[in-house]
Amino acid sequence: MNIHEYQAKSLLNQFGVATQSGIVAESPEKAVEAAKKLTLETGTKWWVVKAQIHAGGRGKGKIEGTEQNGVALAKSTDDVMKISKNLIGGNLITIQTGPQGRKVNKVLIAEDVYGPGESEIQEFYFSILLDRSKECNVIMYSTEGGMDIEEVAEHTPEKIFKELVDPNLGIQAFQARRIAFNLGLSGAALKNMVAFVPKIYKAYVESDAAMIEINPLLKTSHNKILAVDCKINIDDNRSEE
Ligand code: ADP
Ligand code: MG
Repeated sequence: MNIHEYQAKSLLNQFGVATQSGIVAESPEKAVEAAKKLTLETGTKWWVVKAQIHAGGRGKGKIEGTEQNGVALAKSTDDVMKISKNLIGGNLITIQTGPQGRKVNKVLIAEDVYGPGESEIQEFYFSILLDRSKECNVIMYSTEGGMDIEEVAEHTPEKIFKELVDPNLGIQAFQARRIAFNLGLSGAALKNMVAFVPKIYKAYVESDAAMIEINPLLKTSHNKILAVDCKINIDDNRSEE
C-alpha cells in the first residue's frame, strides 16, 4: 500500500523526523487559505504547490494537455490559486505514472525551504528497504539527490552508498556518523544528520514500512536536515495472505 506524500510526512513527524511543513487542500480556494495559514505558522514567504498522487516524478511531469508541472513554486497567493486550479482535477503524467497518468484530487501547499542563508543548500537521496537475501535492512543514500536515482545508479553508481543494518542490533551510532561523513557534512549539519538517521530508521521499523524513500533529503542553508519529499510503502503482505 502506498500513502500520499502529506500522509508520509505526518507519519515521519510522529517519529520526530523534521519535514518541510505543509497543509493539504482539495480546492483552489482552500489552497489559498492553506497558504496564508502556513505563512502564519512558519513565516514562509513563498509556497510550493505539490500534486498529491501515488507516483513520483511530479516535478518534471505535466498535466495532460498543458505545460503545468506537478510541483511548482508560487510567489504570490494568486500563483497558489492559478497553479492549484491547473492541478486539481487535472491528469498528471509523469515518468512513473505511465502514459495514462493519475488524476489529481488534492494539492499539498508546502513551505519554501530553499531560501538562502549561511551555507549552501544540498539535496541528498535517502532510502531504507529490506534486503531479503541478506536478511538486513539496507540504507541507500547519495549526494546526488533531487533527481532520478535510477539515472544515478546507471551512470555514476559509485555515488550511491549502502549501509547494512542488522535488524537485531538496530542502527548503531557509528553507522549514522559514517552516513553523515560520506555525505560530506560537517559542523551543525553533520550533527543534525547523525540525529536524523536513527529517527528515520525507527520510523521505518515501527510503521512496518517495506520502503521509505526521501528524495530530496535537504540540507537547508541553515544546516537543518529536512525531508522535502517522502514516499512510504507500507508492508501489506499480511493482509493479502
Ligand atoms: P517528485 O519527486 O514527485 O518530483 P518532489 O517533492 O521531490 O517531487 O519535488 C520535485 C523537486 O522540486 C525537488 O527535487 C526539488 O528540487 C524541487 N523543490 C521542492 N520544493 C522546492 C522549493 N521550495 N523550492 C525550490 N525547489 C523545490
Ligand atoms: Mg522527489
